[in-house]
Amino acid sequence: MTSCATCGDLSYHFAVTGQDESLPASVQNLKRLWTREYTLGHDVLLCPTCGAWFELNHDAAFTGSGNGDSQTLERLAPEVWSPLERLLHGDTANPDTLLTEAFTRLNEALLLRAFECMKIEVFAAWLPALVTRFVAASDPEPLYRVLVLVIDVAVLRTKYLELIRVQPAPLAREAKWLTQLCEEAAAKRR
Ligand SMILES: [Zn+2]
Repeated sequence: MTSCATCGDLSYHFAVTGQDESLPASVQNLKRLWTREYTLGHDVLLCPTCGAWFELNHDAAFTGSGNGDSQTLERLAPEVWSPLERLLHGDTANPDTLLTEAFTRLNEALLLRAFECMKIEVFAAWLPALVTRFVAASDPEPLYRVLVLVIDVAVLRTKYLELIRVQPAPLAREAKWLTQLCEEAAAKRR
């Protein structure tokens, strides 16, 4: 709890299931980063008064007796929202440190959503550092899940292909696979 007039009554973790329950009304005063009001899904909410960050999950669950949505709201700790904020702003001054922080501190849903909703030019600014980490990683899987997002965005796909071509061989299985998918997507759109 904090003393903020807007979000002070929102605890660190809120979970609501069933149609008769809902999150506290003060959630409506928070600013949604990615989705519109009342839409289902995953979003980050910001308090316009004190700048606190929250993660919202709104899942539709259709059970036999009817519709039982479930919602969770979590207040994000500074070590989580700080790398998220810098990631979304394309703060590439120190890309390695920030990407390490982001991949360590953010849960996978938040990390993927951040890249999915990121402005294309910001994503493009991250690509060189992402590709360098991707080819050097002992576990390239988390980076692969982020980088597959480039397949359907022509600008990012082209940039990925340029970056991967200058990486020292041999490439890991994931990097070869993603390169192939990007080349196929590029060929289809020609
Ligand atoms: Zn607040």
